[in-house]
Amino acid sequence: MNLVADLQREIKGLVSGQDSHLEEASQDFGKVRFKKPAVIVRPSSSQDVVQAVRFAFEHNLSLTTRGGAHSQSGQCLSENGVILDIKSLNRIIDLDPQSQTVLVEGGILWGDLVNTLLPQSLVPPVLTNNLNVTVSGTLSVAGLGVASHRYGTQADQCIELEVVTGTGEVLTCSREQNAELFNAVRAGLGQFGIIVKARLRLRKAGSHYRTHFLLYDDLSQLMKDVRFVMEGDRFDFIESWAVPCPQGFRRTGMGRQPFAAWFFPLHLTEEFESATASPSEDKLTGLAFYKKVHMEEGPLQNFLFRLEDLFALWKRAGYWDACHPWIETVLPWQSAGLFINQVLSQFPPHALGGGHILLWPCRGTISEVPLFQTPRSDFVMGFGILSGVPKPFLAEVLPRLNLLSDLSQNAGGKRYLSGWINFDLAKWQAHFGDYWGGLIELKSKYDPQGILNPGFIPLSKTPQPRA
Ligand SMILES: Cc1cc2nc3c(=O)[nH]c(=O)nc-3n(C[C@H](O)[C@H](O)[C@H](O)COP(=O)(O)OP(=O)(O)OC[C@H]3O[C@@H](n4cnc5c(N)ncnc54)[C@H](O)[C@@H]3O)c2cc1C
Repeated sequence: MNLVADLQREIKGLVSGQDSHLEEASQDFGKVRFKKPAVIVRPSSSQDVVQAVRFAFEHNLSLTTRGGAHSQSGQCLSENGVILDIKSLNRIIDLDPQSQTVLVEGGILWGDLVNTLLPQSLVPPVLTNNLNVTVSGTLSVAGLGVASHRYGTQADQCIELEVVTGTGEVLTCSREQNAELFNAVRAGLGQFGIIVKARLRLRKAGSHYRTHFLLYDDLSQLMKDVRFVMEGDRFDFIESWAVPCPQGFRRTGMGRQPFAAWFFPLHLTEEFESATASPSEDKLTGLAFYKKVHMEEGPLQNFLFRLEDLFALWKRAGYWDACHPWIETVLPWQSAGLFINQVLSQFPPHALGGGHILLWPCRGTISEVPLFQTPRSDFVMGFGILSGVPKPFLAEVLPRLNLLSDLSQNAGGKRYLSGWINFDLAKWQAHFGDYWGGLIELKSKYDPQGILNPGFIPLSKTPQPRA
């Protein structure tokens, strides 16, 4: 069989076996796992996706969907199989300002969608910090943002999906129609079907934003205040970090180790119409921050793309080229403070390698997406260590991160599945809990040969290509 030529006969889009293309698709943002595919398909339509899946199904080839490749454990990589590069399906099909909905192809970047929507004063309710990721890539993990405390995940704001299953069947699914598939595909990491189209909820956008830059020297006070802000629904966007103030070296059982005192910036942002702007200092009443550092206002677009400057800096400074075994975990509110303080007290500040530590406070009951696993708790705190690790340090760092992941689970946390995940079967089962048995059944129903995205969640055996 000549894979490239045979596939190209079925597909109108690009089919490539060119080594430079295969190399490019053999890594993700994590740069920890590497897998080289046999062929890359860039579909020109949903029909191309159907054809590619049917071809893979007939020949028992694995087929892995790849979006912006910002995940970090090989979730979008394929060993010797077909890579479906969904970014070529990137059109806005139908924008309806009346109903405040938009129908898009799965491979469109959130940033491109936002740039089209803002001139019409519309915006998706939840946006991730990085807008260079695809709609289908974040719907497949959940999509968390600084407005999630109010609107849940991006997957919660999805109304309807067009999905190609592992047998090449095209199904429309929503909360009302094929709900089982809808619930399997959202945060389903491409295991049960390929998202080719998504209908998304939008909301009216204000024209401007105003951010208060606050600083805390105590995590428990930050958590108290941020909960107060969420309960009172005072701000539209909430973001927070832990930042080290390095203190030199201190003696420990493992010799002299660098350590830090930790501070906690909290950025509280409101969105408004410039015509009706009024000062919002009173919204800070009752908060006990250590310092108010800054206040900034501007057009809303600047806020939504605010991290572009950081990403540009990360690229210039070499952080982007490092390995990124990011660890994000969503902790129950009750154990979050103790757990985070314990980790930070042991965390050598230089190990961030130019990256940062993210805090993501949210309501624990706001998301109804079943496969986005969160602790059962009214409020939750996401904790993300977003290090840039130079390759020579990777072997030393990974076991520590794996331990940290285990400890976070012991503290009742649930890992966010786009990051560095090194679960064995028992940990996968623990992660999904009661859902696990159902997931195996869904896999055999929607992808009976296990051709979709093998090698990450062990829901079926990796397919062996037929000769
Ligand atoms: C700098 C940076 C900032 C980030 N900020 C955030 C943030 O604020 N919030 C957040 O939630 N995440 C964040 N992430 C994580 C990121 O959103 C996820 O990794 C997301 O999956 C990336 O989308 P992608 O298009 O790169 O998908 P990929 O990494 O290419 O794919 C992710 C998964 O989705 C599957 N997939 C992709 N397209 C489809 C499809 N059409 N059908 C079925 N399955 C599909 C893939 O097979 C894979 O399993 C960030 C990542 C980076 C690097």
